[in-house]
Order: sequence, then C-alpha cells, then structure tokens
Amino acid sequence: MSTRFHEGRPSDSNLVRGNTSPYRAPIEDVALALDVAGLNELLDLDAFSHIDRASILLALEEFGRLAADAIAPSDRAGDLVGARFDALTYSVTTPSEYHDAYRLYVEGGWGGLPFPRDFGGGDLPSVVALAQQEIFASANMALSLNPVLTQGAIDALLNWGSIEQQMTYLPRLLTGEWTGTMNLTEPDAGSDLGEIRTLAEPCGPSEWRISGTKIFITWGEHDLASNIIHLVLARTPDAPLGTKGLSLFVVPKFLLTSDGSLGERNTVNCVAIEEKLGIHGSPTCEMFFEHAIGELVGPLHGGMRAMFTMMNAARLSIGMQGPAVGERAFQHALEYATERLQGRAYGVEAPMRSSLVEHLDVRRMLLTMSTTTQASRLLLYWVGSQTDRARHDVDRETAQSMVDLITPIAKAWSTDEGFQTASLGIQVLGGAGYVEESGMAQRLRDVRIAPIYEGTNGIQAIDLVSRKLGRDNGKWVLLLFDEIAAAIPEVFSSDDPLAVSIKSLSVALSTLRSTTEWMLERLSRRSDDALAGATSYLELFGITMGGWLMFKRATLAAATLHASRSRAVAESNFFAMEVMGRSAGLAQPIMGGADHLRMPISPLGL
Ligand SMILES: Cc1cc2nc3c(=O)[nH]c(=O)nc-3n(C[C@H](O)[C@H](O)[C@H](O)COP(=O)(O)OP(=O)(O)OC[C@H]3O[C@@H](n4cnc5c(N)ncnc54)[C@H](O)[C@@H]3O)c2cc1C
Repeated sequence: MSTRFHEGRPSDSNLVRGNTSPYRAPIEDVALALDVAGLNELLDLDAFSHIDRASILLALEEFGRLAADAIAPSDRAGDLVGARFDALTYSVTTPSEYHDAYRLYVEGGWGGLPFPRDFGGGDLPSVVALAQQEIFASANMALSLNPVLTQGAIDALLNWGSIEQQMTYLPRLLTGEWTGTMNLTEPDAGSDLGEIRTLAEPCGPSEWRISGTKIFITWGEHDLASNIIHLVLARTPDAPLGTKGLSLFVVPKFLLTSDGSLGERNTVNCVAIEEKLGIHGSPTCEMFFEHAIGELVGPLHGGMRAMFTMMNAARLSIGMQGPAVGERAFQHALEYATERLQGRAYGVEAPMRSSLVEHLDVRRMLLTMSTTTQASRLLLYWVGSQTDRARHDVDRETAQSMVDLITPIAKAWSTDEGFQTASLGIQVLGGAGYVEESGMAQRLRDVRIAPIYEGTNGIQAIDLVSRKLGRDNGKWVLLLFDEIAAAIPEVFSSDDPLAVSIKSLSVALSTLRSTTEWMLERLSRRSDDALAGATSYLELFGITMGGWLMFKRATLAAATLHASRSRAVAESNFFAMEVMGRSAGLAQPIMGGADHLRMPISPLGL
C-alpha cells in the first residue's frame, strides 16, 4: 500500500487503499472557545451546580482520545467501503470498523451528556455537548450523524412526548442502544414541507397507522443498534393544507411488548439507499411506511412546532460540521506543508529548499483555514451557550431571541466556510490533494452536504431576513449590535496589539448596521429586494460575528495570561485583515436589489 501522500501514522485496521489522516482533538482551542462562550457563567447557574469546568475539560479530553484512537481510524473505511444495502432483506450493513467505534461510544455513556439525569444523562450544558459533537464529526463525520439524529429525536421527545413515551424511549436512546431518525423529506417536499403527503390515520385510542414514502433519511436503517426510533411528519385525514396540517409521530422499527422488550417488526422498511458524493458510511435511506404503527407526539397539527425543536438543535450540530471538518483538513494540510519541500521561500538562498509552510501564499491558505475554523467554532459555541441560558438563566427571553436570530447564520456561514476550508486543504496539498489517496478529497466530498441538509443555506438566509430580523421591530438585532459595539474601544493607540482587529471590526459593524437598516426598510415595501440580498447579508453577519468573537477570544486570552494568548491575538488580526476585510465589499450585493436577478438566464429568456 502506498503512503506517498499520507503524512500520518499508518493504520493497521486499514485494509483498503489509502489512509486515514490522523486527528488530534484541539482541546486547548475548544476550552478557550468554551470560555469565550461564557462557560464559567453558565456553571454558576443552579442547573449546573453539580459540575465544574475542570471535570468538563477532562471529559472532553477523554472523548478526544476515543475520537483519535477509535473513531478516526474508522473514517476511511466508511468512505471506501460505505454502507451497503441488501434488497432481499431490506437491511443495511455498515463497515465493521464502525461497529467497534460505535460500541465504545455507547459503552462510554457519551450519548447522554446534555440530557436529564432522570433518564440516565449527565445534565451538562448543551454547549459542552456541541463541543463533543465537533470532536466526533472531525474524527468521522458520517458516523457522527447517527448520534446527531438520535440527540434530535431525544430533544423532540423530551419537549413534546408524553411521560409514557419518554419512559419508553428515552433511556435507551440516551445510551445509544437505540438510535433515532428525522423523517421530513418526500419526493415532492424538500424545502417546501407544506407538500408532505405521508398519511396518518387513527386506529384505536392512541394508535395511528402511517403510510407513505420518505426519502433521504439519514441512518434510517442500519446494523449498529437493536431498534431505530423514527420521528415522522405526516398529515392526518381532513387536516388543513400546508404545514399547519402536519403532526409528529413516533414509529419504532420494532414494536415494544408490555415489559418494554422488542416485539414484532413494524411495517416500515428501507427500500433503497443513495449513492452519493460523500459521507458514504452514513446510509441515506428511502423509507416506505406501509400502515406502520405509530403514536402522536405533541398536539394534533402541532407537528411543525415539535419538529422545529429537533431541527433547531440539529441545525447547530450540522453547523458544527463546518469547523469540525475544517479542523481535520487544517491539521492534515499543516502536517503535509511542514514536510514537503518545494522551491525556495523569500530570502532563502540556494542550495537550500523550503518546506511549503515557509511560502507566504501557503501560509495565507493555512491561516485562513485555521482562523475561519476558530471563528465558526466560536460562533457555534456562542449560540450553544445562549441555548443553555434560554433554558436556565434569568433573562430567558433575550437568550432565546439570540438563539432564534443567530441559528441560521451559525448553520449557514459555518458550513460554507467549512467547505471553503476543505477546498483550501486540497489546494495546500496541490495535486496530492486532488487524488483520493491522500484523503483530503474525502473532506471536501463529506462536508459538501452540510450547506444542503437541515434547511439549505439559501433557506437559512431567507429565514434570517424574512422571519428573524424584523422580529419585535428589529429590537434583538439592535441589542446584539450594541453588545458588539460595547466591546470596541472608542479610543485606542495604533500600537495596540489588537489595533487591526479593532479597526476592521468597526468597519464591519458599521456596514452591518447600515445594510440592516436597508433590509428592514425594504422588508416593509419591497421584500423581493431583501430576499435578493439575503445570502450576502448572512455572510456579512457571519463574518462580523466571527470577527467580534475572535477579538473577544484574543482579549480574554490576553487578560488571563492564557498560554496561547499571542497566537489568539495574531489570529484575531489575521482574520480581521484577510476575512473581515472583505466585509465592506458585501454592501453592494446586499443592497443591489432584485431587478438584476430578473435578467434572462438563458437564450430561452427564462
Ligand atoms: C445526504 C442527505 C441526508 C439527508 N438527511 C435527511 C434526513 O435525515 N431527514 C430528512 O427529512 N431529510 C434529509 N435530507 C433532505 C434534505 O434536508 C433536503 O435535501 C434539503 O432540505 C433540500 O431539499 P431538496 O433536496 O428537495 O431541495 P429543493 O427544496 O428542491 O431546493 C433546491 C434549491 O432551491 C432552493 N430553494 C428551494 N426553495 C426555495 C425558495 N422558496 N426560495 C429560494 N430558494 C429555494 C434551495 O435553497 C436549493 O438551493 C437529506 C439529504 C441528503 C442529500
């Protein structure tokens, strides 16, 4: 087996061509990002009095070791072998490497970190679970989707399930002994869920029969768990049209007997899995429900609200795939660039040769990779900690409003940046990056789905502009801008180590304020103009939030004499110059209006 392009340790378990690039959980950066998100303040709340920062970091370190030693080595087999479907038995087989990795995850009790102790969980802040999800997705994005969907199902049942449903399903979903799925998409209902046709008919006091086809269902069928608990959006007879007529149902693969053990097989089957660009180890299933037995979760016709509980948490988890894959790509690219010799860097004399990392353009790429990864991690953790505040703090309304406002930005901006980072990873490796053997191409192929599922990034931008921005007359967005402004010193010296960050953040915030005013004004009379600029506006918002949090990180690291304080300051300035420096230029596409988008696209005049 050739290891020409592989810069890390060979893996014994790798029986397929190509290697898994090694992964090391960046615990120091994770810890600092948790601090910027306000972990210590969260731990002062009564809800978290049973846990302290040191224990949390120890747990994340331990999970990091599991990720590096057991989960990451299964990643390449997942890509090359993938999930396999057997049409005779309607079964899906995953690579053997996945079985060991998942078993260790279950045995370690890692699935229940943020959930109530009453059901076997750890009652930890959800931002800590987000950090754990990041580490898992870095190690193996395809496998990590299984717990992500399971945790979404747990959230839905915790918030909307009856006591009986919670007692029946939660303990074994928390351990990971059973897994969960989210069944929304149908052939005619993708972004437009109002078109869902799957039918739920009443049959007895609490029983329903579900019939229809769902497509693209992640981990809808597999061989890692003894039962799969499907949460399904369906329409009841005579329900109103559109999303208002949807209800949520829980449909187990195996029905349960009165003592809770597995009974008969329910009539829900996977009838095909998709061949796709990446995440080959994650089965993407077409599910056929044939009068399958289910139970209503939450109120009749309240399905969208219930499903949103699941989707909002899942949007942060999917957003996390951006920095997660970005981190893995960065570690691989840095290692490769350190070892490969090409040409001579500026100032280096013959006969010396330079490593790639000494060339300024390669440094630009590596630093862009690492700083956008840091910035999107900070953004996601920040929203994650607002989620905890919205549950447990005194000012829950403000925290929940921030979660609602920033979730679409965190999902879309972070996944777009994650894809760009993986692409830069290929660029750093040159031709070796483009060929499959190096493993870098897998990063790009895997992460490409993240801007599409869990609501496309285009839909996130529309959600931000048309539903979130103008809420309460723009009160929340203005409150957030004031908070960012308060962090920017009015007077500072040009010798200030963070002068570049301060200047760039002021410009970005001022562009964001003026484009927000324009957006709010257009929403009231020409909302098509606002929709036309929505994606660029979301990008500007993401960059500004990222720059603000990078600045906060540097300030916090400097104030606490953190070991990585000089790196944090330099990274903030780099992000300010190279990434936030683009912010002012976004004003034009944001405020360009809709008319130019109505020009003919093809000779047919479409
Ligand atoms: C690998 C994979 C895993 C998935 N996992 C799941 C899962 O577990 N459960 C599940 O239910 N679904 C899942 N999905 C489905 C996924 O959520 C949808 O593919 C996604 O929501 C987009 O829907 P669509 O594919 O029908 O695209 P469409 O809705 O047809 O969108 C196509 C394009 O048009 C744009 N567009 C659509 N409507 C509008 C509009 N009103 N305004 C402006 N632009 C618009 C979109 O942004 C997109 O760019 C998965 C998909 C994949 C590929």
